[in-house]
Amino acid sequence: MTTRCNELNFSGGPGALPASVLQQTQRAIEALPETGLSVLGMSHRSAWFISLVEEAMENLRGLLGLSDDYDIAFMQGGSSLQFATIPMNFAGPAWAPPQYISSGYWSRRATAEAQRVHRCGVAWDGEASRYSELPDLAQLDIDPRAAYLHYVSNETVEGLQFGEQRTPSSVPLIADMSSDFLSAPVDTGRYSMIYAHAQKNLGPSGVTVALVKRALLERIPKGLPAILDYRTHIAHRSNYNTPPVFAIYVLTLVSRWLRDDIGGLLAMQKINERKSAMIYGTLDALGDAVRIHAKAPWRSRMNVAFSFGAESLDRAFVEFARERNMTGLEGHRSLGGMRASLYNAVTEQAVAALCETIREFAATRL
Ligand SMILES: *Cc1c(COP(=O)(O)O)cnc(C)c1O
Repeated sequence: MTTRCNELNFSGGPGALPASVLQQTQRAIEALPETGLSVLGMSHRSAWFISLVEEAMENLRGLLGLSDDYDIAFMQGGSSLQFATIPMNFAGPAWAPPQYISSGYWSRRATAEAQRVHRCGVAWDGEASRYSELPDLAQLDIDPRAAYLHYVSNETVEGLQFGEQRTPSSVPLIADMSSDFLSAPVDTGRYSMIYAHAQKNLGPSGVTVALVKRALLERIPKGLPAILDYRTHIAHRSNYNTPPVFAIYVLTLVSRWLRDDIGGLLAMQKINERKSAMIYGTLDALGDAVRIHAKAPWRSRMNVAFSFGAESLDRAFVEFARERNMTGLEGHRSLGGMRASLYNAVTEQAVAALCETIREFAATRL
């Protein structure tokens, strides 16, 4: 019963984790096979943990094909702390104000937080379309002297995703990939920085991955608090103060699962494409009875935000699905409606079951 619920977890985050990872985690809470101690009581100074961090970094490098021009840091404070530390570290008087794409709930949050730290420009705002579409980044007129261009690769709340895009080459590109990191291959070389917290696609909450191009580190001003300075975490191999040992452990298990069980990011992408095609196909077949928030070209493969057009119907559907062990389908509090999150660990079988439930609901209640 519990397992069945875990398999049918469509939560926006913290999201589903692979069944095999949950099983290994359960054993590790009792005793890690490598040390005989609970993972929850393992010292961050132990040889076990130090080599775990190295493995996690290696696995991420392998999955992403990340070059040695980049450093990796495992940090705390979630993606929200990154919203603040990015302008602190990488904007400054030597550059024009950083530019932000304001394309939905999370990029608006990132922009607002950055503006508390530094003057920032908004290069594009999706308000006119009620955040249902995305711009062509390469078409935007961005000041080439801008410190960087920041965008959110997948708008988790609205269900909008940039996907493989042409990007401007004139300014350093920084992307929040919190909700689609490791869901498909990415051309990491186009970015100066990529960050993603773990709790949507790579593990539990508590750890955030930052990939930073070494050249960008040279910009960091003197005098930042050490804990807010990316160089601190990089120099200490993500072990400056007590790191989130448990979250990094589970993230490492997920990276092994992606590599060994799934077969890498291209294989993951194919699975994710099949999952999202299944659900959009099911919804499109209902015609006017359903509204999908994202306009077609920008539909996310990770988060599907939709509504049956009336709050009472949406609530009835969430309840209908809950009776079938499906959870996490309520839309984000800012948008309402429903949201089905199809993160890596959500299986094709789970999505097929959700589609069946949608069809059944439509046939009996719409
Ligand atoms: C969920 C989410 C966040 C918020 O992350 P926290 O770790 O809660 O700070 C930021 N960005 C995106 C794209 C998200 O989906």
